[in-house]
Amino acid sequence: MKEQFDLLFGLQQIDSTIDDASKRLAGLDDGSGKRAELEQQRAELAEMETALKQTNSQQLDKELELESTEEERAQKWSQAYGGAISDPKELASLEKKLEELQRRKDKLEDVLLALYDKSEQESRKVEQQRETVARLAKELDATVGNFERVSAELEAAIADAQQQRTAIVEKLDEKLLADYENIREKSGGLAVVAVNGSLCSGCRVSISVMLLEELEKGKKLVRCENCRRILHYSE
Ligand SMILES: [Zn+2]
Repeated sequence: MKEQFDLLFGLQQIDSTIDDASKRLAGLDDGSGKRAELEQQRAELAEMETALKQTNSQQLDKELELESTEEERAQKWSQAYGGAISDPKELASLEKKLEELQRRKDKLEDVLLALYDKSEQESRKVEQQRETVARLAKELDATVGNFERVSAELEAAIADAQQQRTAIVEKLDEKLLADYENIREKSGGLAVVAVNGSLCSGCRVSISVMLLEELEKGKKLVRCENCRRILHYSE
């Protein structure tokens, strides 16, 4: 009987190993949270890049408009003051046109200054966002790498423990195994506990002298009077 109890204690240790590894496996970060965040940040980067492209294209349009306004103004200026015009009415009309072109030029320069400023700010934002995306991508790689490595280790440990479990179960008395499974289900996975001095290591309540004697004999299955777990005594 003693041998059976030792096997049962061994089974408990293996099952605890399997439970712990399974819990760790389930709790491992597979990077899905980080992946979602990365996708979100990438989408934001794409939006920022589009906005910057639009600003730069507006800027180019306004630069061309300014250039042609300046050309037109230079042309009108030489027309007005090149000595070819003697009619004061015609000259007055040209001067009016020149004023209008000057106003347009001033306005375009203001608009361009604002656009340069906007473009600079947007470029900076794009740069920062690119850094954020690169950092997240790197973190995701590390998380996924860690997940793959640790989950492979845990899966191997579980498979190994399951093999050991099968070997023990084959040698175990059926009734004893059924009791064990039953208690395990009711006691949070822990059915067999070691005796620590005279304490049950499952519930920390002391064990009666009578039960301790029974345990030492090793002939009967002894259960803690408090938590009902199977007690195991090892010399
Ligand atoms: Zn107990």
